[in-house]
Amino acid sequence: MAVTATRTIDNYIAGEWTPAADATDVLDVTNPATGETLARVPLSGWADLDAAVSAARAALRPWREVSTIARARKLFELRERLIARSEDLARSVTTEMGKTIGDARAEVARAIEMVECACAVPTTMQGRNLEDVSRNIDAETIRQPVGVCAAIVPFNFPAMVPFWFLPFAIACGNTFVLKPSEQVPLTQQIVFAELDALDLPPGVVNLVNGGREVVEGILDHPGIDAVSFVGSAPVAKLVYERAAKAGKRVQALGGAKNHMVVMPDAVIDKTVDGIIGSAFGAAGQRCMAGSVVVTVGDAHEQLLRPLTEATRALHVGDGLEESSDVGPVISCAARDRISDWISRGEADGAKVVVDGRGVAAGSAEGASFVGPTILDGVTPDMDIATEEVFGPVLAVIQAGSLDEAIEIVNSSRFGNGTSIFTESGASVRRYRHEVEAGMIGVNIGVAAPVAFFPFSGWKDSFLGDLHAHGTDAVEFFTRKKTVTSRWYSSGQGSGSYFVER
Ligand code: NAD
Repeated sequence: MAVTATRTIDNYIAGEWTPAADATDVLDVTNPATGETLARVPLSGWADLDAAVSAARAALRPWREVSTIARARKLFELRERLIARSEDLARSVTTEMGKTIGDARAEVARAIEMVECACAVPTTMQGRNLEDVSRNIDAETIRQPVGVCAAIVPFNFPAMVPFWFLPFAIACGNTFVLKPSEQVPLTQQIVFAELDALDLPPGVVNLVNGGREVVEGILDHPGIDAVSFVGSAPVAKLVYERAAKAGKRVQALGGAKNHMVVMPDAVIDKTVDGIIGSAFGAAGQRCMAGSVVVTVGDAHEQLLRPLTEATRALHVGDGLEESSDVGPVISCAARDRISDWISRGEADGAKVVVDGRGVAAGSAEGASFVGPTILDGVTPDMDIATEEVFGPVLAVIQAGSLDEAIEIVNSSRFGNGTSIFTESGASVRRYRHEVEAGMIGVNIGVAAPVAFFPFSGWKDSFLGDLHAHGTDAVEFFTRKKTVTSRWYSSGQGSGSYFVER
C-alpha cells in the first residue's frame, strides 16, 4: 500500500480495511530524518477494539476447522509474499523509525525468519502420549489454541516485534489482534495488505491502531484470552498486572540496560566492532543495545582509544542513505531527552569523550539526530549507569576483576542481554554461570537469539513465564489438555486406573 502524505490510515478488522469509528485523536506519523509527515494515525477507541475482538472471536471456529497443515501452508505463502515485499518493508521501517536501511533489512529478514519457524507448527504443536499408564489405559496430552490473542508492541522494531507473536499465534489456531506503536504504524499496513491477500477466514488477524486507550481496552476486554507486550518497563508492569488480574495469559517484555564486559585478553579490533554495532546500531534504540562497557583491568587502556576513534568515524545521517552508519532517533522529544541524559552524566562526574549532542546532521526542522556518544569514568552508582537511556550513548565503567564486573552487571534491576569479550573459556564459563540476564553473548555484541530459540530477559526486563518465539511460542499460544482413556473391547481386561495389578 502506497503511503501518501496526510492519509489517515485504517484499521484492519474482520478482513476489511476499516476507518476508525471511535477515534479520540489523530496523530501525525513523521520521518525522524526529515520531520516530514508521512501519514496520520487514528487513536482508536473502545468500539474499534471491540469490533476487532468480536471478529476475532467469530473467526475462532472457522480457523480451527482449517487443518494444522493447511494453516502452516498459509504461513509458507506469507513467507513468499513478505520476501517479495522485503525491500518495501525495509524502506518503510527506515522511513518511519529512522534506523539505517541495512539495519532495517536485517530486521525484515528476522521477521521472515519468525514465519519460517512458525511453519514448523505441525511438528512443534504435537502432544505426547504414553501407552499403558495402567493396564489397558493410555494417556495423552494434546495442544489446543488459547483463543483470541493480542499483542501490544513498541516503536523500535516496526516489522519484527509484531512477528514475535503473530505467525506463532495463528499457526497454533488462535485468532489475533495487533496494536502497533502509534509512532510507527505504517510498516504493518504493508504487512496486513499481504495478510489480506492470504484469504484467511475474516477476523483471523486484526489491526487496531491507537495508544493507551486501546492498550487498556485489550487488558480489560473479556473477549481476549492472552496478551503479549513489548515496551518500556513501567508499561510492562502495568500490562502484566492488569491483564493477569483480568485472568488472561500474559507475557510482558520490558526495558533494559545491557552490559558488555571486556577482559584484558579480548581481541580488541573485533571487540570494538562488536561494541560499536551494539551501542550505536539503530541509534541505541534496541532492547538488546549494549549501553554500558565494563572493562576489566588493563582492558580499559587497550580499548578506549580504538573505540573512541571508531565512534568518531561513524557517519550520522538519513538511514535511507546507504553511507549512513547511524540514523536519527525516533522523535525530537527523544533527541532532547537523550541529550539531557548526556548532560546529566557529565554533571555527575563522567567525562564525555565523544559528544553527540547537537550533531551536524539533519538540518531540516523536525529532524531528530543525536550522534554516538561515549562517557568515560562512569561509576556504577551514577544514573547514567543504571537507567535506560534508549539512545546512542555508551557509558564506560572500570572494574578490577571479573568478579567485580559480574557484581556490577548483577546489581542492575534489568537483566535482558549481556556480552563478554574474551579468549578465555574459563572466564566465559564463570560469566555465563553467574550473570543474571536472559540472553548472553560471547564475543558477540547483540546476542538476540534467532527465531528458533526463545527471546527474553530476566528481572525487570521480563514479567511472565514463557518467553517470545522459539519453542516457548508454541507453549504460550496453546493450552494443554490431557486425555486418559480405557477401551473395553480390546479384550485385555479392565485394569484399575489407580492401582497397578
Ligand atoms: P512504550 O512502553 O512507550 O510503548 C510500548 C507500547 O505501549 C506502545 O504500543 C504504546 O502505545 C503503549 N503504551 C505506552 N505508554 C502506555 C501507557 N501509559 N499505558 C498503556 N499503553 C502504553 O515503549 P516504546 O518507547 O515504544 O519502546 C521502547 C521501549 O521498549 C524500551 O524501553 C525498550 O527497552 C523496550 N523494548 C523491549 C524489548 C524486549 O524484548 N524486552 C524489545 C523492544 C523494545
